[in-house]
Amino acid sequence: MGAQSQAGNGSEYLLELNDLRTYFTSDEGTARAVDGVSYAIEPGQTLGVVGESGSGKSVAALSVMGLIPSPPGEVVGGEIIFKGENLLAKSPGEMRRIRGNEIAMIFQEPMTALNPVYTVGDQIMETVMLHRGIERPAARAHAIHMLERVGIPAPEQRVDEYPHQLSGGMRQRVMIAIAMSCDPSLLIADEPTTALDVTIQAQILDLMAELQREAGMGVMLITHDLAVVAQVAQRVAVMYAGKVVEYAAVEELFEEPAHPYSTGLFRSLPDLAGPNERLQTIPGMVPPATRFPSGCRFHPRCPIATERCRQEEPLLLPLAGAQTGRTLACHHREEAAAL
Ligand code: SF4
Repeated sequence: MGAQSQAGNGSEYLLELNDLRTYFTSDEGTARAVDGVSYAIEPGQTLGVVGESGSGKSVAALSVMGLIPSPPGEVVGGEIIFKGENLLAKSPGEMRRIRGNEIAMIFQEPMTALNPVYTVGDQIMETVMLHRGIERPAARAHAIHMLERVGIPAPEQRVDEYPHQLSGGMRQRVMIAIAMSCDPSLLIADEPTTALDVTIQAQILDLMAELQREAGMGVMLITHDLAVVAQVAQRVAVMYAGKVVEYAAVEELFEEPAHPYSTGLFRSLPDLAGPNERLQTIPGMVPPATRFPSGCRFHPRCPIATERCRQEEPLLLPLAGAQTGRTLACHHREEAAAL
């Protein structure tokens, strides 16, 4: 996707990544974890960012949050435009004010993100007292209100409980309550339902969608699970080895994935492969970010790779006939469409 400054409807994007590059240095060399990523989120929209572990999707999110540990990591290039301003030009103090206030993040495993020695109420109160400057009694009332808003029963009682006293689903609701406590414009959710069973997962996704509708915030949903994307996202960025390989409206991607990697992801999904199709896993693994292959990084795993693919890196270019800004990085579009 080329850099764009306006959404299709003429309004400004809420968040726009332009050619973002985040590298890590180690004894094994430079890991190009995010290597030229561009995508955008409109206000009120959900972007699903999908790909296997090691594709760079979480590193891109941590770059937006200003949470890349440096050293060994560093954002070495590109732009992160949030509400028209480049976050990469902000000071650490300015980023602290934006984080948790304007942009909030929830993680896969709330037990590691929540502090076990503080009550859940204290953890919500800390966020609102820090960012909104309100006093303790008002913050406590707000914490109870937030617990109620995320569907936690008996919030007046739960507010004084510790994380270990809650179930996994409840803890994830608390994480969402903390994230939503300052009404962020952008919520980054990194595998928010992966550790939960299917029923709780559906409840959490419904809750996020409801809160999103109420608050009109944009959501970046990072997941390896296309079924989750189908449920909540409007657009999808498929990432592989530090790059976006396909970027599309969710209906387009689900109707007809265009990149061989996207096709492989769909074939490995029980619900989406269809009753008569054999489930297939994509052979091989995502290469380590210190040793990406030449040319197309997917070529060692691609069933239709050619010599050109091994030599020449494909650019992310518009798909012919697509009206919705769909882009694809593949040299052999017709053959890929026939897969
Ligand atoms: Fe496969 Fe070549 Fe397309 Fe890469 S560029 S996805 S190797 S066909």
